[in-house]
Amino acid sequence: GCNNFCSYCIVPYVRGRERSRRPEDILREVEGLVAEGYRDITLLGQNVNSYAGGIRFPELLRRINDLPGDFRIRFMTSHPKDCTRELLDAMAGCKKVSKHLHLPVQSGSDRILAEMNRRYTVDHYRELIAYARERMPDLSLTSDIIVGFPGETRGDFEQTLDLVQKTGYTALYTFLYSRRSGTRAEGLPDPVPGEEKSRWFQELLEVQGRIGAEYMERQVGKTFRVLVEGPGRGEGKLTSRNDQNVIVEFPGDPSLAGQFAEVEIVSAHNWALEGRLVPEENR
Ligand code: SF4
Repeated sequence: GCNNFCSYCIVPYVRGRERSRRPEDILREVEGLVAEGYRDITLLGQNVNSYAGGIRFPELLRRINDLPGDFRIRFMTSHPKDCTRELLDAMAGCKKVSKHLHLPVQSGSDRILAEMNRRYTVDHYRELIAYARERMPDLSLTSDIIVGFPGETRGDFEQTLDLVQKTGYTALYTFLYSRRSGTRAEGLPDPVPGEEKSRWFQELLEVQGRIGAEYMERQVGKTFRVLVEGPGRGEGKLTSRNDQNVIVEFPGDPSLAGQFAEVEIVSAHNWALEGRLVPEENR
């Protein structure tokens, strides 16, 4: 559930309030999964970093990280108002925690963030990102953005574009605002025509398309430890994810599925990287 009541969202009404599982139960479950051979553990919560099970979320990450075994820890979704430096320090210090942060900003305008009841400012968000990058230079950042919230002006939208350009996201999940009945935003005046909002949306996609492509190009030549998921697109190819949660495809034997491998990136697409397996003797 969720306690936040963002003005556009129906989740707190349909899912109820947040509840936190006991840390010892989570640790036991992870231990059991790792013993069964699972290598990719995702801590999933509507607002996972407000976890309040007697310890805070950064401590939970540290305790899971300390469990024996070779596995990767991911978590989502984080809310910027609950994303602390302590959490970013825990991410940086825990080897098993994926260096990928999905931190939905929703808008680059403080006025719209207040209307959305998000309870953080753009400056606060930028400071978090700057600290995260300082602690984890190889961090991959993704985010959610809503375009065309009721009352959003071209000026507000340009602030979102500015934030996107300066942050350098690996990928964005972009949404055109759509009214949800029963939410506070439902009754807000919404004077901007749909065609205009669609143009802004397209503009944002184009800007992010360039930024995402540049990010992917910068990965060419690097070597990543990837977790192999199974067959990829095309004959003899495998699909995998690196620590930044980016898809990496490479030719390889299907018996590698479920294992970690080292892959050198040889080319980039918008949606995935292409690589070649680094033989064990060259590691
Ligand atoms: Fe909660 Fe996320 Fe919905 Fe906001 S957008 S109310 S944080 S679920």
